[in-house]
Amino acid sequence: MTDLICIQCKYVGRPKKIKRGSVKLEVLAWLMFPLGLPYTIWRLFGRTLVCANCGSSTLVPSDSPTGKRLLDIVEKELTGEKDPPPAPPEEKREITEETPTEKPIATERIKPVQNPNEW
Ligand SMILES: [Zn+2]
Repeated sequence: MTDLICIQCKYVGRPKKIKRGSVKLEVLAWLMFPLGLPYTIWRLFGRTLVCANCGSSTLVPSDSPTGKRLLDIVEKELTGEKDPPPAPPEEKREITEETPTEKPIATERIKPVQNPNEW
């Protein structure tokens, strides 16, 4: 049996088995006699797994994608490793409308001076 991870408290391990339904309802069902028997049987067969730590039934198997992600988080918390800093927001490029910028146009191109010794 694979370990289960509790989503609530991130407990990893074997869950507890509990009977579904409630004792109160079972007693009530037995008071209305014919209902008690099927209810008891339903409870016996319908055992649910709950977290052994907090009793929550929100358990995922550790080999499921969700379980693996949770395990990752648990391990990081145990090792005190912090999550990588969030990626910096994309630089908002201010879309400037094409305004004619009056840049001085270089009329004379400076030719790279060739070293005559290279040739
Ligand atoms: Zn739990």
